[in-house]
Amino acid sequence: MTASRPPWSKQSLAAQALGHVEPVTKAIVPPIHVATTYIRDEDNAYSSGYVYGRPDNATVRDAEAVIAMLEEAEAGALLFSSGMAAATAVFQALDPGDHIVAPRVMYWALRNWLLTEAKRWGLETTFVETDDPDQLRAAVVPGRTKLVWIETPSNPLWTITDIAGAAAIAHRAGARLAVDSTAASPIHTRPLALGADIVMHAATKVLNGHSDVVAGVLAGAKQDEFWARLVTIRKGQGAILGPFEAYLLTRGLRTLHLRAAAQARGAMALAERLAAHPRVARVLYPGLPQHPGHDVAARQMEGGFGYMLSVQVSGGEAAAIATAARVGLWKRATSLGGVESLIEHRASVEGAGTPCPPDLLRLSTGIEDPDDLFRDLDTALQAAHRS
Ligand code: PLP
Repeated sequence: MTASRPPWSKQSLAAQALGHVEPVTKAIVPPIHVATTYIRDEDNAYSSGYVYGRPDNATVRDAEAVIAMLEEAEAGALLFSSGMAAATAVFQALDPGDHIVAPRVMYWALRNWLLTEAKRWGLETTFVETDDPDQLRAAVVPGRTKLVWIETPSNPLWTITDIAGAAAIAHRAGARLAVDSTAASPIHTRPLALGADIVMHAATKVLNGHSDVVAGVLAGAKQDEFWARLVTIRKGQGAILGPFEAYLLTRGLRTLHLRAAAQARGAMALAERLAAHPRVARVLYPGLPQHPGHDVAARQMEGGFGYMLSVQVSGGEAAAIATAARVGLWKRATSLGGVESLIEHRASVEGAGTPCPPDLLRLSTGIEDPDDLFRDLDTALQAAHRS
């Protein structure tokens, strides 16, 4: 956490991207820095703090500063070329033979990476239901487990894991806790304040919010040896975000509070109406009292329950696919967090071995009129039923 609280709220600071003004022209929008290299001083030093474009870029640092402020990250934030590049850097910072505990249901590409690539690095992962503290406690091996990775709400069932509880379990075993907070956003959850060591976002999603940047970010609770390894890994692997993407990301972050709040309100309204829909067997959204993680979510999430929900369609897989085929306003596409609402038959994307139910449609709520979003889905659900 920051030592002294800033005088303005996070919303105000983000709206102005921390209020940086370009010193030469006094422009309130900083330029995009594209230089790959910087002048060395006559005394052989680099007094600007910028040496070479692979580790150093001012446009990237601008976006990182906003995210570090939002996440209350004392170590700062590190932007990567994708969410996967950010997440895998955390695992690559471990040593061969280290043990990891991760969720059974999590972002599928990262789970696949843990099952394949991480294994080849000598890392062993135990997958458990991280929303069950007993399973989590039983899975950590004191002294050998070095990382507990959780995702909350977790994709695509929107399961909620108690961050403070998981941090206590991890720390007692001598492990770090990392949280994929992509579906929550910094507006709705503050993992570092709840005891996590690292928070990760696919910044591709709601942080940028406009479906036009692929990016990932890590924010750290403290400047320690592990954080230094992450800095070294990003530099060594050349995984930094490009300056144009960083500029767009900062532009997106200026409106994050408005977008995330509107998207969460829309998701809640949809969840409530869909829960009463005759063609919907089940709605998965942590804002609903019947969701198994609702009580924990109500405790650890602030100002809403996020923009993601899923529905299980009556009539099974065929009815779910037929529903997705019949939407008009919703866009049939993968990804999440943008201002436009997306619908996806998730099992089709995840393929064989997915824990995702075949009748599940994943919904990413945008900022359209929630009444329109509901009417469109209602029409598609009815038409799929008749077909
Ligand atoms: N984590 C979550 C929860 C995601 O949904 C995604 C992508 O969908 C990622 C990580 C990976 O992010 P990216 O696609 O930017 O690599």
